Amino acid sequence: MKNTSKQKTTPIDTPAPLVVIGTVAIDSVETPFGKRDRVFGGSASYFSYAASFFNSVALVANVGNDFPAEYRQILEERKINLGHLETTPGKTFYWKGKYGLDLNSAQTLDTQLNVLKDFNPKVHFKQSPRYLFLANIDPQLQISILDQLAQPRPDFVACDTMNFWIHTKKKELLHVLARVDCVVMNDGEAREFTGESNLVRAGQKIRELGPAHVVIKKGEHGVLLFSEHHFFALPAYPLEAVFDPTGAGDTFAGGMMGYLAASKSVKFEALKRAIAYGSVVASFTVEDFGLDSLRRIKRKDIDERLELFRKISSF
Ligand code: AMP
Repeated sequence: MKNTSKQKTTPIDTPAPLVVIGTVAIDSVETPFGKRDRVFGGSASYFSYAASFFNSVALVANVGNDFPAEYRQILEERKINLGHLETTPGKTFYWKGKYGLDLNSAQTLDTQLNVLKDFNPKVHFKQSPRYLFLANIDPQLQISILDQLAQPRPDFVACDTMNFWIHTKKKELLHVLARVDCVVMNDGEAREFTGESNLVRAGQKIRELGPAHVVIKKGEHGVLLFSEHHFFALPAYPLEAVFDPTGAGDTFAGGMMGYLAASKSVKFEALKRAIAYGSVVASFTVEDFGLDSLRRIKRKDIDERLELFRKISSF
């Protein structure tokens, strides 16, 4: 693997329709089906890769100078705008996780923030992106991006988080929730965040904190969407073989936001279709380690699986 030296970033000053801030990471993952060391990961990497099947997308993140050039190329191949991917001296964010027989929740074995500790993103958008996703990252950085947005604000801002930030930065997370249109959380995080074991009540409680829409992902059990006057429940696409659930949540969000940005709508019907697309993209992700499965598919594979999904879930 080659290392990149300090790379100059070109600021994006043309408005990108869809922007994500999150982590670009090196992951080590163990599941009952195998083990991979130092693979390409990160919430923004998975998100932008999935979103790129639907819409152009720009990524705001930082990496260390140990970040392999071939990982950067994986994003470039999908024409993801890397004008805000900063390379700074130090080590890339590193996460190590393990899944037991219950593939729905990862056990974090190690989190090394490394260059993320000093990340102070400065974006140069002349106009705000129409769609913005604050992927799983320090909530203080999510706030910093919200503070830098020019008026008019985006049509739709959504965010994600995880237990690491719920434990360490809950106050900041509450500020983020008060400023977004939608939050995407998994079931365990929603329960932990609200102290509610019942997911319907947990979803309602989270809505009361600000976001108009709350999406609760339940892994192999599907997804729930809570909005003011509407509720939607969708199963997961049934798979016989799941190898590595890492990135499922981020690719779900990437498919969802990518579809919304492409359809230029934030109506409830569009949100429902976006959630179905997100579920289908996530179903590909978990069929192999890291981004391996997504790298093998084309947009037509997503559309074909979506049609099959529609047939098996409508009555
Ligand atoms: P998920 O879609 O929830 O499976 O997210 C998996 C990705 O989240 C991995 O590729 C990790 O690099 C990244 N990740 C793990 N912990 C954190 C964290 N505390 N903050 C941001 N990203 C993280």
